[in-house]
Amino acid sequence: MDCIFCKIAAGQIPSKKVHEDDRVFAFHDIDPKAPKHILIIPKKHLASLAHAEPGDEALLGRLLHTAAEIARDHGMDKGYRVVISTGPEGGQTVHHLHLHLLGGRQMHWPPG
Ligand code: 5GP
Ligand code: ZN
Repeated sequence: MDCIFCKIAAGQIPSKKVHEDDRVFAFHDIDPKAPKHILIIPKKHLASLAHAEPGDEALLGRLLHTAAEIARDHGMDKGYRVVISTGPEGGQTVHHLHLHLLGGRQMHWPPG
């Protein structure tokens, strides 16, 4: 599987790791869009949120809960935003499901 995030989760490409457990890996985004910008991914390759199946429900919940725990551990007590870019119009550029955890500044709406 020629997937950059699979390789990061496997430790084959270096990253600034924030969290790892049996199913989830999290690391700092290489091109941060906020003072705190962490990516949370499943170790299992899932091309996007649109590719999730009923059997992935527990994994999706784990990803969201991990985002909340990382936000707490990184002092995002004033708030943060979790984003899942999905498909071409969603602006997804890496085709392995990832949650963006963004914090450390005021967020605005609507996003770009
Ligand atoms: P997307 O555009 O798919 O929503 O998000 C992909 C994210 O992955 C971008 O924010 C981009 O900066 C980040 N990214 C792409 N390649 C790498 C990499 O090799 N290492 C890390 N740490 N982040 C990456
Ligand atoms: Zn992958």
